[in-house]
Amino acid sequence: MQTRPYRPRLGTVPAPTPEPSMHLIRGRWIASCPSCGYQLASARLQQTAERRARRRRCPVCKEVA
Ligand SMILES: [Zn+2]
Repeated sequence: MQTRPYRPRLGTVPAPTPEPSMHLIRGRWIASCPSCGYQLASARLQQTAERRARRRRCPVCKEVA
C-alpha cells in the first residue's frame, strides 16, 4: 500500500491570503477570517493585528481546502 504524493496542478494555485476582517472590540483590534470568523490575531494597533493575521492561515478553512 503506497500513498501517492499529492501534486497540485499548475493553475490551481490557491488564492492569495484573503483580507482579514478587522473588528475593534473593547480597545483591541481583532483580525478574523473573512470566511468563517475564526480569530487569527489581536493587537492594540490595527496594523499589527492585520499584519499578524496575514502571516497566519485560518486553521478552519485550511481543513476544508
Ligand atoms: Zn476561516
